[in-house]
Amino acid sequence: MAFTDLSIASEATILPILEIAEKAGISKDALELYGNFKAKINVDQLRPVQKMGQVVLVTAISPTPAGEGKSTVTVGLADALKQLKESVAVALREPSLGPVMGMKGGATGGGFAQVLPMEDINLHFTGDIHAITSANNALAALIDNHLHQKNVLHIDPRRITWKRVLDINDRSLRQVTIGLGGPGQGIPRQDGFDITVASEIMAVLCLATSLADLKERLAQMVIGYTYDKAPVTVRDLGAEGALTLLLKEAFKPNLVQTIEGTPAIVHGGPFANIAHGCNSLIATNTARQLADIVVTEAGFGADLGAEKFMHIKSRKGGFNPDAVVIVATIRALKMHGGVTKDSLSAENVDAVGHGMVNLAKHVDTIRQFGIEPVIALNRFSGDSDEELSNVLAWAKKEGIAIALTEVWEKGGKGGIALAKLVKQELQRPTNFNFLYKEEDSFEEKLRTIVQKVYGGADVQLSDVAQKQLVELKNFGWDSLPICMAKTQYSLSDQPKLMGRPEGFTITIREIIPKLGAGFLVCLTGDIMTMPGLPKKPAALSMDVTADGNAIGLF
Ligand code: ADP
Repeated sequence: MAFTDLSIASEATILPILEIAEKAGISKDALELYGNFKAKINVDQLRPVQKMGQVVLVTAISPTPAGEGKSTVTVGLADALKQLKESVAVALREPSLGPVMGMKGGATGGGFAQVLPMEDINLHFTGDIHAITSANNALAALIDNHLHQKNVLHIDPRRITWKRVLDINDRSLRQVTIGLGGPGQGIPRQDGFDITVASEIMAVLCLATSLADLKERLAQMVIGYTYDKAPVTVRDLGAEGALTLLLKEAFKPNLVQTIEGTPAIVHGGPFANIAHGCNSLIATNTARQLADIVVTEAGFGADLGAEKFMHIKSRKGGFNPDAVVIVATIRALKMHGGVTKDSLSAENVDAVGHGMVNLAKHVDTIRQFGIEPVIALNRFSGDSDEELSNVLAWAKKEGIAIALTEVWEKGGKGGIALAKLVKQELQRPTNFNFLYKEEDSFEEKLRTIVQKVYGGADVQLSDVAQKQLVELKNFGWDSLPICMAKTQYSLSDQPKLMGRPEGFTITIREIIPKLGAGFLVCLTGDIMTMPGLPKKPAALSMDVTADGNAIGLF
């Protein structure tokens, strides 16, 4: 039988979580057990430490739709560092059921580099995402009830921006009409659903530093506008207390383990386009309290995930990555070298060579932040020796640290070369700097991202975005950092523009203020906040045995 992620995970030895906790220095008092293999951590009960651990950020080349193996390399690198006797922990996002039931698969790594129990983590885990769904929809219900109960805040039903959410891909709910059926059934209005991981509450939970901060951020969220176009916040509705109550358990980070027994904090999972795409700040900081080195990940390629990690998460968290790993694969390099999706498995040394420009741009970007990146060339079984050796030779010639990484096939052992390079970078001080300051004008911030990170020529605002910019300047919101919502497939806003395009202009279609999360989302192209299911949803291959074991979870 061929190995699958699920079969490997089911065969793996999983240790009681109490044992993992004990080795990581977490006392029993600081743990809330969810069965034998998962626990929530009460961070207030953790021993204070003199020095917080260093952070290794794993990012990637502009990916193919299948993903290039960031989570896999994150887990495998941590296990390799553990084999080198380092004190190490992993911090990862929680999977959303949207991609799990849809197409992309889970988010627990792959092969012999996974976090366990993979089945639980990929399904309902400790219920965090369900709690976020409940908090989001409680707020939606409170808004509609406010309209129904005489609307003293004068909320304009046509200008409510708060949507309902579900943690499932369901395109038929993108636009809905609610409140039909007469005066007893509420006020009719047009509404819509997003996927839960696109809820501002997810971004808020992932950036909050304490329960009090969580409550304050929830209070600041804008839910719509009055008939006079004044913003209405959660504080105006008086709902922040109830929302915080619904989220108080979900706010606690979750402790699990990798296949090789490395502690892993898996917590929070904001969308990487409409939000910042990395696990919670509290998870990263908890991991930094437990270990000298924390390996973590940010969604999509370095133009999106890493840029936002630096400008949003690092800025809020008061730390920066001490090392950055860029995951590259032969298949993504081929795609950037002009090969179509259905021909990616055939050997094509020339296309790999042409595609290297995309990787080179991401290397340049990380260097602009003052960090010397390490490339992890994630090996797939179909890659030819010549394809692989060409990439290794190119990087060596360019003076970029690179390691062939085989953690999917071999676990930590397959990541030793990468771990050694990362350790070298951790011993060198970085020269970290932000590419823009918060106080730069909105236009300057935007231009900096487009020119320095995407390598584009300029940026233009649609008529709608220009109007929105005037309004948000009036409200004094333009000092917030920017969260770009752009396709992950291209450095530009055109998904089909592969490689390292130049001279392009990015068009901002809309600007959405997220005051609780503390950023301005700039929408480019067609960004879906409620994905649809594909022709053959992964769900249709899933089943469960009579004794309760999962089948078909990848
Ligand atoms: P990302 O985090 O970049 O989205 P993942 O680590 O989730 O990517 O990997 C995406 C999928 O690719 C997973 O199903 C994983 O098992 C698979 N995968 C990753 N690396 C390899 C590899 N070297 N060989 C085979 N499959 C791999």
